[in-house]
Amino acid sequence: MKTIDDLGDLRGKRVLVRSDFNVPLDGTTITDDGRIRAALPTLKKLTGAGARVVVTAHLGRPKGEPDAKYSLAPVAGRLGELLGVPVHLAKDVVGDSARETVASLADGEVALLENIRFDARETSKVDDERASLATDLASLADAFVSDGFGVVHRKQASVYDVARVLPAAVGELVLKEVDSLKRATEEPARPYAVVLGGSKVSDKLGVIANLLTKADRLLIGGGMVFTFLAAQGHQVGKSLLEADQIDTVKGYLDDAEKNGVEIVLPTDIVAADSFAADSPHEVVAADAIPADKIGLDIGPASAELFASKIVDARTVVWNGPMGVFEFDAFAGGTRAVAQALVDATAQGAFSIVGGGDSAAAVRTLGFDEAGFSHISTGGGASLEFLEGKDLPGISVLES
Ligand code: ADP
Ligand code: MG
Repeated sequence: MKTIDDLGDLRGKRVLVRSDFNVPLDGTTITDDGRIRAALPTLKKLTGAGARVVVTAHLGRPKGEPDAKYSLAPVAGRLGELLGVPVHLAKDVVGDSARETVASLADGEVALLENIRFDARETSKVDDERASLATDLASLADAFVSDGFGVVHRKQASVYDVARVLPAAVGELVLKEVDSLKRATEEPARPYAVVLGGSKVSDKLGVIANLLTKADRLLIGGGMVFTFLAAQGHQVGKSLLEADQIDTVKGYLDDAEKNGVEIVLPTDIVAADSFAADSPHEVVAADAIPADKIGLDIGPASAELFASKIVDARTVVWNGPMGVFEFDAFAGGTRAVAQALVDATAQGAFSIVGGGDSAAAVRTLGFDEAGFSHISTGGGASLEFLEGKDLPGISVLES
């Protein structure tokens, strides 16, 4: 893969950068600017080299047309503060305003194009439509730097197609993410423990098949756990359950036994009356969840068990909260796992936190990010990497 250094002298050159600025918003207030901060090394490197930097990114899920609710204006403001230079926001994606904004840039200045998903061609399944947006983007720049790790698993115009029409290089963030994830996939230091949780159960089951040939221990918590408990023949009450995945999970349990992979499931569950912050709740055995209760966290004995399986690991990957950590009463399991990762890291383990909500949990529960080896900015992308899937936004840079 070409890096920014391989692009040669960038002074006065227009460089298009795909960043991931898909930050959580409350109205127009950015509630977590982690992804903007993560984009800074590449942008600073380019402005420092005297490039005229043109950034493209998406925010939320607009429906292929302009929608003020998803304007990148708040991002432009925050990015300007963090970079210490004004960021010139174009009013459109590749229209008159974008062209004028880019043309007015001086060396070392930064333009931000409006939300790329205001243009329906960005996510089109039709190759020619994406290619036509890529051509429009390419007309605004002399080179392309791919740095939106959160989208490299997407075959989209600003991620994949544009890299085929401009001299293209990998950005600092994507480089760092890929190096970190490689440490977990290519000859990981052992024991290698993987902790999976969260609520996107069917999305995440796919990664398990691959991990069963790689990891030594697989710890399952969060909403995912109930499909496993059901596969073992237990009742799960009103808990999150993907009934159509029970057979798949049974297969995983069999394969794990054959491969000598230890699957660690919770022995106790915090069961609530309802999905609410102030719901009455009690700790019950994992194989005795009452029919009218909903499991919202792993129990305290399980938290201890999980921690013991994490602290002496040499490689730990964690994706997905152990419970509904947004409600304090159900944050215990997530807190214990985060602490165990910090402890393992302090003892020399290599630890990765992946997944938007998991990274947010680490921050909102007050952990110092420096306690982890790597906090990934891309949930889906990091999972697909761990699954061993081809990531179009990466492989296009390798060809
Ligand atoms: P990530 O973004 O880290 O990949 P997900 O998006 O898969 O994680 O899931 C995060 C969400 O999972 C959190 O909002 C959390 O409240 C929820 N969650 C965790 N455990 C449970 C549970 N037992 N029941 C319902 N939701 C859960
Ligand atoms: Mg999530």
